[in-house]
Amino acid sequence: MSEEKSWREIPMGGLTWLHSVEYKTGEWRSFRPVVDHDKCTRCMQCVIYCPDIAIKYKPDVNMIEIILDHCKGCGVCAEECPVHAITMVKEKE
Ligand code: SF4
Ligand code: SF4
Repeated sequence: MSEEKSWREIPMGGLTWLHSVEYKTGEWRSFRPVVDHDKCTRCMQCVIYCPDIAIKYKPDVNMIEIILDHCKGCGVCAEECPVHAITMVKEKE
């Protein structure tokens, strides 16, 4: 059995110094979420579940919006949408 290392012995990991509003990470994405606004019931599940806080609700137009500068294409929103209003589409290469 290997001996456990202390935190001082573990190699330093990557760290972003700015929150994601200032640090655009969307270019990592290979798939992008596309919303069918006719199917969307504005339930906000995708807003809650997005790990990058890349979905916001726009009350002026009563729609959700994916912020592609920050969306990493993980697909969690598409998985969690109860009415399957989000489809993951491959980014153009
Ligand atoms: S694909 Fe992932 S990062 Fe992008 S909006 Fe959906 S949950 Fe958020
Ligand atoms: S989870 Fe689906 S139905 Fe709910 S707000 Fe998001 S896209 Fe619309």
